[in-house]
Amino acid sequence: MAQMRDALDLLPQPHPDDSSPGDWTEVLKLVVVGKGDKQRETLADSELSHPQQVAAARLTQISAWLEAAGRQPKPAKTLLELAKWWVEHSGLPFEDRGTETVRAELRSMPGINAELADRLLLFVGQHRAFPIDRATIRIACRHGWTEPEADYEDWQATITRTWETTAALQRVSRGFSAVGSKHCGPQPRCTGCPLEPLLPPGGPISLGEEGG
Ligand code: SF4
Repeated sequence: MAQMRDALDLLPQPHPDDSSPGDWTEVLKLVVVGKGDKQRETLADSELSHPQQVAAARLTQISAWLEAAGRQPKPAKTLLELAKWWVEHSGLPFEDRGTETVRAELRSMPGINAELADRLLLFVGQHRAFPIDRATIRIACRHGWTEPEADYEDWQATITRTWETTAALQRVSRGFSAVGSKHCGPQPRCTGCPLEPLLPPGGPISLGEEGG
């Protein structure tokens, strides 16, 4: 596991840390905008930036606000449930509450899968959680750090055991996303990749079905 831990120092940090942990606007970024979206600022001034207003709105109104901000209306139901939950906990749904409790509440909401729940826990709530996305799976399997057959909870346990602080987990998550988009897609492009020094002696382990 030592090599996996070494990745922290090699990974790039592509975006300056402009996040505001614990803030509703972070929820909006993760649920509506997604990773790498260049138009995240368009939501800051929209009606959606006020959770009380979203919690009291009808779905059609939330959809209209999303469309006015240049977004698809699909996350409207997710936002409504999240806003109600946010208001119910007085704007502090992640504070002084167990990770498993919050995780279960998030996963029970429409449109929130295991990965998004953990992304919210890590980046909004500052909990020790890690969103297991495709980039993470590709990188970890190709380096032999985990088995492709492992389930989501196994991946989660391995990664949170390796990096213990939320700051490190956030850094690794951002770094894996950046490496995944630039180097470690369906076909690995290892030459010049920041994690190339950590490859196994025989090169990246094949993921089989993708040919990479
Ligand atoms: S591209 Fe190669 S070196 Fe980079 S993370 Fe993927 S397998 Fe590792």
